[in-house]
Amino acid sequence: MNIYGTWNSSILEEEDFAQELLLHLQGIGKYVRAMDIVEYLDREEVKSRLKLTKTISLATAQRWMKNIGYRWSKTPTGQFVDGHERADVVEYRQVVFLPIWAELLSRTRIYAASGNECVVQPPSTRRVIIWNHDESTYYANDRRKIRWVHKSETAVPYAKGEGASLMVADMVSPDYGWLRSPDGTETARVLFKAGKAREGYFMSEDILKQASNAMDILEKHYPDEDHVMVFDNATTHLKRADGALSARHMPKFSPKHGDKWDGTDWGERRQPKNWGVEVPMGDGTFADGSPQSLYYPEGHERAGVCKGMGVILEERGYEGALKIRAECPKFQCEKGATRCCCRRMLYNEPDFVGVKSLLE
Ligand SMILES: [Zn+2]
Repeated sequence: MNIYGTWNSSILEEEDFAQELLLHLQGIGKYVRAMDIVEYLDREEVKSRLKLTKTISLATAQRWMKNIGYRWSKTPTGQFVDGHERADVVEYRQVVFLPIWAELLSRTRIYAASGNECVVQPPSTRRVIIWNHDESTYYANDRRKIRWVHKSETAVPYAKGEGASLMVADMVSPDYGWLRSPDGTETARVLFKAGKAREGYFMSEDILKQASNAMDILEKHYPDEDHVMVFDNATTHLKRADGALSARHMPKFSPKHGDKWDGTDWGERRQPKNWGVEVPMGDGTFADGSPQSLYYPEGHERAGVCKGMGVILEERGYEGALKIRAECPKFQCEKGATRCCCRRMLYNEPDFVGVKSLLE
């Protein structure tokens, strides 16, 4: 005999059934409804297996959703951060970034809630305006942010191609709001339909164009202040100039065969990994200021081929570099270590350290 409610709760208490229901819902995807449970229990085979005469009510299904871990709430979102605690990142932050940032902040205007400046600085102070870069992509189904969210769900980046999308990127400051010329005709805003084909295209190049356009507006209309543009660490903001020095993926040894600069003719399955450089890198610099080619010179039997980290370091006077390991596990070198691995050594060389991203 089924006493409505009591019976319903007890069947859900069976671990197997709750699990079955959860699997069914997860199979449906991101947007699940309590109605899906109602419909599931209305299937003939389910009904007969569970010895049900009819399905449950929507209100019961909503209660069940909660019992199996769903909440009617916003899609989880999150910031993705990486590398915060790496020793070299921490050191850069403490020694280089924070002091500069503190100096800049001391020259910004600070506003009270009334909108008036609350710290009055000497009139001779050259003011600093901080412009934050902000980009957002709006997806066609964004209006469905509130839905049944299972407790096991964590924030995931939008999957590419999840509906049509619109990208907006702009710069904003507390002093002036959006970056515009005073008459509003010139603007830093960039707006376009990203679409699947263009996804990932609003990248380095567009960001650079936008930044340079923003600088033009600032120089023309706001020349009496210092302007600081703040970008987040999205990889699209960190692209370096073609040909810039990079030790990131450089192998320790020269490719053993072939005479292409990047070893791509080494032979199948034996190519060194892509170094993330698309054209040969420019010259490095020896301590005395003279140039060091990272590739063997004309006339050498391996002319044009990358020397590899070992030889590059040996030429710089680090005897025995060829015997030092290429890289510490996961490149997590011991704090303060300078000669632990070839990659760390090359990273610390002034000419490699000094490479700036294009945005800088
Ligand atoms: Zn190391």
